[in-house]
Amino acid sequence: MGEKAGRRRPGPLAGLLVAVVVAAGCMGGGLDQGDPEQPGPRQNGPAASPGAGSTRADGTTSVAEFKQDFSDAVGIAERYWTDRFRASGKQFQPIRRVVPYTRSGEVSCGGEGLPRNNAVYCSAGDFIAYDVNWSVGAFRQVGDAFLFYLLGHEYAHGVQVRLGIRYNFTIQQELQADCMAGAYIGDNVRSGTLTLAEGDLDEFREGLLAVGDDPNQPWFAEGSHGTAEQRTDSFFRGYKNSLDACGLG
Ligand SMILES: [Zn+2]
Repeated sequence: MGEKAGRRRPGPLAGLLVAVVVAAGCMGGGLDQGDPEQPGPRQNGPAASPGAGSTRADGTTSVAEFKQDFSDAVGIAERYWTDRFRASGKQFQPIRRVVPYTRSGEVSCGGEGLPRNNAVYCSAGDFIAYDVNWSVGAFRQVGDAFLFYLLGHEYAHGVQVRLGIRYNFTIQQELQADCMAGAYIGDNVRSGTLTLAEGDLDEFREGLLAVGDDPNQPWFAEGSHGTAEQRTDSFFRGYKNSLDACGLG
């Protein structure tokens, strides 16, 4: 899952986000064991109405604030998927842990140390891990809504594992996760759990534009996530039409 050379958009933002999503979820699957060396705190924070205040580009968001918001997003995801599973007569097992880290190799997945500048769902240990400093940087640049997309996408990979969904091509797995992230956000906005600030939808659009694959990358390549257009379509399909649009079966 290498870094790609050609990028759709120049500038630090594009580079940052390409890196996010190249790695996101790609650690999952195929690894059959391994837990993080340091499990880290599992925060089940209360879910107030995060997202109400925009912190876009103001540079004042602290690491502590980010961790709290991330933990709120996790709590919302747990409730969301618990309700969805219950509605179809199933029991949902929340993702075991969410682990912030700061150093390369501090957390490992299936025996392999996670690099910095990354966020992944690790199926081997059933946890989400993210480089907290790097995530805060993305949060500051793209806006606070990005955090919900990031968590929603990684959480969706854990849900795919629970549902036994395993496509032949990573692009299918990734576009479905984008759709599920969109449904998670859209449904929670509709129920009033999440409040989007003015401009948050634009943040999603801008963020998704920046995370698309290079147009020259073949769709079937290992690690393909989809072009900016495909990712935006998938996300907003889920956002507008909920999980029915995501082909969960
Ligand atoms: Zn992914």
